[in-house]
This record gives sequence, structure tokens and C-alpha cells, in this order.
Amino acid sequence: MANFKRIAIMGGTFDPIHFGHLVAAEAARDSFKLDRVFFVPSGNPPHKKNYPVTDAKHRYLMTNLAVAANPYFEVSPIEIERPGYSYAIDTVTEFHNKYNDVDKLYFITGADAILEILTWKNVEKLTELCCFIAATRPGTNLEELRRFIEELPEKIGKKIHIMEVPALAISSTDIRNRVANHRTIKYLLPETVEQYIMKNGLYQS
Ligand code: ATP
Ligand code: MG
Repeated sequence: MANFKRIAIMGGTFDPIHFGHLVAAEAARDSFKLDRVFFVPSGNPPHKKNYPVTDAKHRYLMTNLAVAANPYFEVSPIEIERPGYSYAIDTVTEFHNKYNDVDKLYFITGADAILEILTWKNVEKLTELCCFIAATRPGTNLEELRRFIEELPEKIGKKIHIMEVPALAISSTDIRNRVANHRTIKYLLPETVEQYIMKNGLYQS
């Protein structure tokens, strides 16, 4: 496995992937000296049951286009190949087994996702297998986030690292709405992804 010592999983729906995701992943790579960041588009995300998520094939291809220019980034299809809902615990367990000689396995999320960590399946086991990197997002209240982490059971809280990143007020929801309303999405995501969206008529309504 190419002598990777420190790797991270960047989970997400990536519907579509945008510069907020890429900036968070690159900041984590730099700060935590990561050898690889694996972007893992979710297959059937359990927390997004209320809007029709775009076909996994499109999200996977867009993620590949977005990471192509960064030699430290890779895309893993494991969640889209796994039937049923996508749970982080299954993905982390698979990475843990596959890369069993790495020193450190991280999971990168936005701070908004960390606030819901107690609802994640098998959270205790999850924090035994990996550490979390919680990237700040516009709207993140740092004090509140710190307090939240302090109040978690210690063995969970000590596995979560807050990482401050330059705030990018970009979300996939906003990008989807912009496309539907014929507004620009330029400079919010890689040009190759923008072209893919237009060519395939994604998010038109
Ligand atoms: P949606 O609006 O559909 O929820 P999203 O922009 O939040 O999309 P996700 O695919 O849900 O994108 O996010 C994947 C991960 O990336 C999550 O952990 C999320 O918190 C994080 N993330 C998303 N956008 C940003 C951003 N602008 N800055 C930092 N982290 C982000
Ligand atoms: Mg989100």
C-alpha cells in the first residue's frame, strides 16, 4: 500500500463536490501531514432521506474530476459499491483492514457534521478506529463547538481535532439551487465539474 503512514477519509454526498470540500481536505493534508486523502462519495446516505440524491455514478465522476489535479487526493468507490445505507463505521472498518499498517487513520468532516456525531452508528467503535478532523465552516461557533466536544464522553471527545480553515460559504445545496435558478456557479467549484453539470443537465429543476 505504497508506504502510507497517515491517511484520511473525506466522506460526503458530494452532490456536487465544491471548493469547500477541497479546501478542507487540503488543509487537513497539510496540517496533519497526510500521505493520502481518500474522497468517499456516499452511496445511499442515511441522513439525506428527504431530498433525491443524484445518481452515485454522476457524483463519483464529478469527485474524480475535482481531485484529478492533486496527487495526494484519490477517490474510493467503496460506499457506492456497497448496497444499503452508507455508514461511516463500515467505511472506516474497511479502510482500517485494508491499510492495516498505517500509523494514523483520520476522518475529515465539517463542524456541522461533528455536532451530530452522537447519532452516528457505533460512534464509540468509530473513534477507536480513527480520529476526526472537524473543519470549521461559515456559521461554526468555535466556542460552542469546543464546549460540545468537551462535554462528549472523554474517549470520544479526545479523538476529535478542530481544524480552522479559511471560511468558504459554499454548499452543495446552494450550488444545486443556483443551477436550478440559472444563476452562476463559476468559482464555487472546479471548472471541470461545472462543465460536467452543464453537459449532463444536472440540477436543472
Ligand atoms: P449539502 O448542502 O447537500 O448538505 P454540503 O455542501 O454540506 O452539501 P456534503 O457532501 O454534505 O456537502 O459535505 C461533506 C462534508 O464536507 C461534510 O462533513 C461537510 O460538513 C463538509 N463541508 C461541506 N462544505 C464545506 C465547507 N464549505 N467548508 C468546510 N467543510 C465543508
Ligand atoms: Mg452537508
